[in-house]
Amino acid sequence: MILSGKTALVVGVANKNSIAWGIAEALLREGAKVALTYQNERVEGRVRDLAKSFDPELPCFQLDATNDEEIATTMKGVGEAFGGKLDMLVHSVAFAKKEDLAGGMVETSADGFKLAQEISAYTLISLTRGALPLMQAAGGGSILTLTYLGSEKVIPNYNVMGICKASLEATTRYLAWDLGKHNVRVNAVSAGPIKTLAARGIAGFSSVLEKVEEKAPLGRNVTTDEVGNAGLFLLSPWSSGITGEVLYVDCGYHIMGM
Ligand code: NAD
Repeated sequence: MILSGKTALVVGVANKNSIAWGIAEALLREGAKVALTYQNERVEGRVRDLAKSFDPELPCFQLDATNDEEIATTMKGVGEAFGGKLDMLVHSVAFAKKEDLAGGMVETSADGFKLAQEISAYTLISLTRGALPLMQAAGGGSILTLTYLGSEKVIPNYNVMGICKASLEATTRYLAWDLGKHNVRVNAVSAGPIKTLAARGIAGFSSVLEKVEEKAPLGRNVTTDEVGNAGLFLLSPWSSGITGEVLYVDCGYHIMGM
């Protein structure tokens, strides 16, 4: 098992359909010790149940990623659970107001723009900063975030989130540059569309799934397991020479021009 003896913090599990859960399952399968977070009490029960389905002792922490105190408390708890060291961090977090994921881009409010950027892009920086001392203690680390094609191509209704993903991908590269000296790598998986809680907030999401099935070279949509396995690759020593990269896991959809 490639990750035996390694430790991971996975941020962004809401339920069993979450991409973060697909990644957590892949990490657990390969022998990693995993800690999960839940955003608030509303999802706590579901996340704890998923954790227990693997290991009743699996650490879970409440973490709103925009709350610096909760980041500090989580990293302290992770340090205590994992002997002061952390090898891997998964950032699988995004949010925009429903009204900013439909209709005219020109209607986007300043508040909606700032909120979406803070949660969907800035939190990669704040979580990385929180995890860095534990990764330095481990002699290095690997960080993974989740992005989408809407960062570089227009996907109708994805609107403000497309801008957030462009910002997130640039953040991935700048963090990779900054943290290479600590032997910390930072990469992103650009996943094809998957029916999750977050995806349901995007107007017309089902038609996106249909388009991919119709046009992607593999003629289908990706599964959470496939994204989990690609995430595992980027988080593990198998990808030790890769940093600042965006890896598409979308059945090839992004290569198509027509
Ligand atoms: P999801 O709803 O299962 O996960 C989104 C997570 O973000 C949830 O766990 C939610 O609690 C968390 N979150 C939102 N605001 C937060 C905050 N302030 N603090 C902490 N956590 C917060 O949906 P998902 O599709 O698994 O999304 C995970 C990531 O994958 C997102 O970045 C999303 O943009 C990206 N992604 C999704 C798709 C897709 O089609 N589902 C495709 C490409 C990329």
